[in-house]
Amino acid sequence: MNKLFKMMLISASAAAVAACAGENEQFKYTIDQFADLKVMRYKIPGWESLSLKQKTYVYYLAEAAKYGRDITWDQYCKWNLPVRHAIEAVLNGYEGDRNCENFGLFVEYAKRVYFSNGVHHHYAEDKFVPACPKEYFASLLEAVGKSDDALLDFIYDKDAMTQRRSTSKTGDIVALSAVNFYDGVSRAEVDAFYNKMMDPKDPCPISYGLNSKVVKDAKGRVTEQLWKLDGIYGPAIAKICENLEKAAAFAENDIQARAIAILIDYYKTGDLRKWDEFNVEWVKDTLGKVDFINGFIEDYDDPLGRKATFEGMVHIKDSAASARTEKLSANAQWFEDNAPMDPRFKKTSVRGISAKVVNAVTLAGATYPATPIGINLPNADWIRKNHGSKSVTIANITHTYDYSAQEQPKSVLSEFAWDEAEIAAQKKYGDYADEVHTDLHECLGHASGQLLPGVSSTALGEYQSALEEARADLFGLYYIADPKMVELGIMPDMEAYKPHFAGYIRNGLMTQFTRVELGKQNTEAHMQNRKLIAEWCYEKGAAANVIEKRVREGKTYFVVNDFEALRGLFAELLAEIQRIKSEGDYAAGKALIETYAVDIDPVLHAEVLERYKALNLKPYGGFVNPDIEPVFAADGSISDIKVSYPDDYLAQQLAYDARYSTL
Ligand code: ZN
Repeated sequence: MNKLFKMMLISASAAAVAACAGENEQFKYTIDQFADLKVMRYKIPGWESLSLKQKTYVYYLAEAAKYGRDITWDQYCKWNLPVRHAIEAVLNGYEGDRNCENFGLFVEYAKRVYFSNGVHHHYAEDKFVPACPKEYFASLLEAVGKSDDALLDFIYDKDAMTQRRSTSKTGDIVALSAVNFYDGVSRAEVDAFYNKMMDPKDPCPISYGLNSKVVKDAKGRVTEQLWKLDGIYGPAIAKICENLEKAAAFAENDIQARAIAILIDYYKTGDLRKWDEFNVEWVKDTLGKVDFINGFIEDYDDPLGRKATFEGMVHIKDSAASARTEKLSANAQWFEDNAPMDPRFKKTSVRGISAKVVNAVTLAGATYPATPIGINLPNADWIRKNHGSKSVTIANITHTYDYSAQEQPKSVLSEFAWDEAEIAAQKKYGDYADEVHTDLHECLGHASGQLLPGVSSTALGEYQSALEEARADLFGLYYIADPKMVELGIMPDMEAYKPHFAGYIRNGLMTQFTRVELGKQNTEAHMQNRKLIAEWCYEKGAAANVIEKRVREGKTYFVVNDFEALRGLFAELLAEIQRIKSEGDYAAGKALIETYAVDIDPVLHAEVLERYKALNLKPYGGFVNPDIEPVFAADGSISDIKVSYPDDYLAQQLAYDARYSTL
C-alpha cells in the first residue's frame, strides 16, 4: 500500500518545491552517483520548531527504526549479512592500494550492495555481481583475514539465488526466491499450512504469516518460527523494544504512548492480534506532530504476498504545507460555487479533504536508502474500513528529488524547454506551483462535483480512472491561475502559474513519454489524463495559436503563446468532463480517451526517447539520513538533540554497521 516509489525516470514532471530555490544554493543535495543509482541527502524543515520533548521522542523512535536494519538485510537473502560483513571488513581494514581500478570496482559493488540492502537490485530484484575479478576480491578478503570460498562463490555466481522474489511462471516461486521467508518447503506446503489456519468467516482476520518464517521441523512437519523477542531476530528486536520504551516516555499524547506499549507487547509475543490492536491505536493519533512506522509492514517481497519486510520511518508534520491545504479546505465551497461547470453538476455543500503532508526525519529498513514518497497504512482491509487509515505525502523527499535534478548539468527541463526564459521561470516558480496544483487536485478536485440522480459511479467503466484524474487535474489547472489564490496568499502573484502551464503542456505532449517503450501505447491513467488535456488543448487552440509547435535543429518544442486562452480551454474541458461524469456519458468519455490519450506519435516518441537517453540521468535515487544525536547535560539528562547533514554515503553505511549491527 505504500510503494509509491519515485524513480528519477518518473520525476521528469510532477513534484514540488516548498520555498524559492535560491535559499538552497549552499546545500548540495546529490552526494554520490554510481551504476544506475544516485544518493541524495534531505533536510528536515520544521525541526527547530519542535520542543526538546518532541525532539527526544523523535530521537528514540529513530533509534528504534535503525536497529531493525539487519532484519531487512537477512529477510532479503540469508547471504546478505555475511556479504556485508566481508565488505565492511575490507572497507575498514584493507591497507593495500586503494587507488587502483580494481579497488574502485570493489567499492562500486559495495555501494550497490549497501543501496539494495543486499546482493539483489533494490527495484529490479535481480542479482548483480562485482565487476572486479574474483581473484582480486579473494585477495582483499585474505588481506583482512576474512577468506571465505563459499561466500566468494556465492557472490560471483549470478545464477545462485538469481532473483530476490522469483517471477518464474513454471517453477516453484517459493523455492526459487532468494528471500529468507521459507526454508525447505514448497509453495503447495506453505499454501496448505495457511489454508488450514485461516477462518474465512472471521470479519477481523489477523494477517496470517506476516511475522514468521516457514520451515520443516525435525520430524518433517511444516511449522512457522516467529520473528519476536525470544525468536528469530531476537537481538535486533530487543534493541527496537528498548528504544521504543524510551520513546514512549516522551510521547506527545496518551494515544501514542498506548500504541507504543502495544507495539512492544507485539514484538515480545509475536501475537498478530496485538499488531492489529497497535494499528487501530496508531490510526487514531492524528493530532501529534511526530509520527512513525516500525514493524513488518509490506508483503511485496514475499512471492506469496504474506510475509512482511521490516521497515521504519519517523516523520513530522509539515506545518507550512498543512496550513496551505487547510486554507483550501476552509474555502472549498467558494471554489465549488465558482467552478466553470453547469450548476446542476455542483455540490451545494462541499467539504475539502485535508491532505497530510509530512517531512521525513529518519528512513530505515526497507525504506532506506530508497524510499517511497507517500504512505498509506495500515494494510489490513478491515482496519481501514472500520477505523480508517493514514495517507501522507513526504514533502522533503519529493523536494530533494527536485533540487537534485536541478543540480545535474543537463536536465529534462533544460533539454525540452524552449529557451532560457522558460527555464528561469520554471526554476523560480515551477516546482512550488506544481505542489499547489497537487494540493488543489487532492483537496478540492476529486471532492468537487456531483452525479445526477440515478447515475452510477462506475458508469464510465474502464475510462473512469483517467477521466477522474483529468477532472481533478483540470480543477487544479483552472484555479491555480485564479486571482483568488493570490488573495488567499497561496500563490505569490499572477505570473507564478505560467511556468506550471508551460511545464504541464510540455510533459503532457512530450516528456512523460520517456517512461514508455517505443511502439507501446500510453496506458497508465495519470499519463492518459495528462496527454488528454495537453493534446485536446493543443488541437482546440490551434486556430488561435495558443500552443505552438516549434522545431529547432531537428528538435521539437511546444511553447505556450497565450496563457489566458489556455486557461479558458482548461475551463471548457473541465465543464465537458464534469458533464460526462455527472451524466455517466460512457460514449463521450470513451471518445475523449481514445482520440487524445492513447496513441503516441511514433516519430515524436522516438525523438523524445533519444533526447532523454543523451541526458544520461540515473534512473533510481536513494538517501542518506540526517544524523540525529543527543547532547547530554552534566547530570546525564538530554539538553538538546542536534541534527547534522552528512555528505558521505559510504561513511554513513559503515557507521550504521558499527552502531546498529545486531545479527
Ligand atoms: Zn488524483
